[in-house]
Amino acid sequence: MFIGHYGVGFGAKTAAPRTSLGTLFLAAQFVDLLWPTLLLLGYEHVAIVPGITRVTPLDFEDYPISHSLLAVVVWAALFAGVYFLARRYRTGAVVCGLALVSHWFFDLLVHRPDLPLAPGSSARLGLGLWNSLPATLALELAIFGLGLFFYLRTTRAADRTGSVALWLLVGFLLLVYAGNILGPPPPSATAIAWAGQSQWLLILWAYWIDRHRVAVPDLEV
Ligand SMILES: [Zn+2]
Repeated sequence: MFIGHYGVGFGAKTAAPRTSLGTLFLAAQFVDLLWPTLLLLGYEHVAIVPGITRVTPLDFEDYPISHSLLAVVVWAALFAGVYFLARRYRTGAVVCGLALVSHWFFDLLVHRPDLPLAPGSSARLGLGLWNSLPATLALELAIFGLGLFFYLRTTRAADRTGSVALWLLVGFLLLVYAGNILGPPPPSATAIAWAGQSQWLLILWAYWIDRHRVAVPDLEV
């Protein structure tokens, strides 16, 4: 899942209006931002098997540190704890933790049975929606659209940048998503990892957007 996780980040702003969109994106996509580094270090492994699903050719061979349910819950607790110590905003900390855990459950819907429950456990889960392109598109676009809808209700642009930068990001995410689905399979696992690392720029982009938008006052908590 790709833009669905960003949809969760957008939507989470409604529950935690004082948390930056950048932090909410970071939480919702945290384990996919960790994963490329673990691939490059050789702790986790991916293979490219064209046709393995209708949507993605990636075979997630093992990724217990980034994508086992137990590890994700631990990352969420750490993330929420660090955020709370830094910002003293309890609601924001809880929302970040929940957004981080939501990643695993949204991945569960689309992945083949490759998601482990805990590092070392042999049980692998996944409901396999990636075997249907229309179902995948319907689900991801719905989450993304809904999240964006709530984000737009919760914030308004403070200046021109707040509007332009947001819509450029939305367009860019949709373009990358289309490219992932329609484009050729990636050439190597290393190429996948570096494409994954480039998502850090989206986090910075979201922090930048957040500085140019303000929470709609009556939703401020
Ligand atoms: Zn993931």
